[in-house]
Parts: sequence; C-alpha cells; structure tokens
Amino acid sequence: MLNLVLFGAPGSGKGTQSAKLIDRYGLYHISTGEVLRDHIARKTPLGITAEKYITKGHLIPDELIIELLENVIDEQAQDAKGIVFDGFPRTIAQAEALEKILADRGSKLEAVVGLEVDEEELIDRLLKRGQETGRADDNMETIKNRLDVYQNQTHPLKEYYSAKGQYLPIKGTGTVEEIFHTIVDGIEEKLG
Ligand code: AMP
Repeated sequence: MLNLVLFGAPGSGKGTQSAKLIDRYGLYHISTGEVLRDHIARKTPLGITAEKYITKGHLIPDELIIELLENVIDEQAQDAKGIVFDGFPRTIAQAEALEKILADRGSKLEAVVGLEVDEEELIDRLLKRGQETGRADDNMETIKNRLDVYQNQTHPLKEYYSAKGQYLPIKGTGTVEEIFHTIVDGIEEKLG
C-alpha cells in the first residue's frame, strides 16, 4: 500500500496535488475537510457540531475527527491500493492515532509530503478561493484563525515527521505541474 499524507497550511495546495497523486498512483483520497463539509450540507449531528468549529477556524476535537477518519477508512477505502490523507493529521494526537490505525490494519505511512508556502501567498490564495467558490471559511477573519491554529497545533508535525525520516519538504510555489513533478520525484526517491 502507498499511504501518503499531504501536509501544509490552508491554501498550500493539498487538494490540488492530492487529486493529481490519486490519478498517478490509483490511490483513494480522504480529505477530512471535505468529509466534514458533506456532513454539514446533509445536516447530520456531526455536521451540526463540526460547523461551529469550522466557521470559527478552529479544529474539530481530536476524538471526533479520529473516529470519523477510522470509519471512512473501513467503509470506503478498505480495498484501496493506498490512501492520500489530505488535511489529516493536524495535531500530534492525530498523527499518533493514524500510525495506530494503519498498524492495526497491517499498513503504514510511506511519506509525508509537506507543501511549503509563505503566509502572504497563502492569504492571497485563500481570499481568491473564497471569491471563486464561496467557501464559508475563506474570509479574512477565519483565515487568520486558521493560520494561527496551523502554526500552533499543526506545524509541530513537521518536526515530528522529520524526526521519523518521513517528511518530504516540497516548495509549494510555481506551477501546479512543476510542484507535482517535484512531489513525484521525491516520492519515487523515497520508495527507492
Ligand atoms: P480543510 O478543508 O482541510 O481546510 O478543513 C476545513 C476545516 O475542517 C478546518 O479548518 C477544521 O475546522 C476542520 N478540519 C478538517 N480536518 C481536520 C482535522 N484533521 N482535525 C480537526 N479539524 C479538521
């Protein structure tokens, strides 16, 4: 199995590059943000809870998101050749849970692809996406919170995965194709 984490701040291009990776390697894509937005649209109990956090730019509590991820893996990705995790993990507790979830299923993480983009560019991209898609959390106030949350709770994962030799730093600026080629080269080198 080829299990990859697409890691990076909001607006770093995780969704765009995930779509290309699943095409190239035939993988299953799990975006926890998309799964949550679907619950919100369907007004499920989880969606109603999640919306309160998402509109403020805060993270959903670890135990809720970990349970959700485990269910998605078992219900939808059991026969997959591998999974691209997009937007998960976002905390150390989630990273530890992911390792256990995969180990319990006889699997492991191959690499953590870290898309690195400076903050000014992230804000530009997110404001633009907000205008183009109407995504509710892409407004200036929520963007600022999401970037703070990223710095405080998610960015430490870079150290965590670097220490395990799993972190693959990728310059997340340039054309979509250029970035994708850098990712593919990095993954293939890692796989040997
Ligand atoms: P995203 O589409 O990945 O930017 O996620 C949108 C929002 O969903 C985030 O700002 C969080 O509120 C929530 N969310 C998505 N994934 C997670 C996660 N792994 N842990 C906690 N909250 C999450």
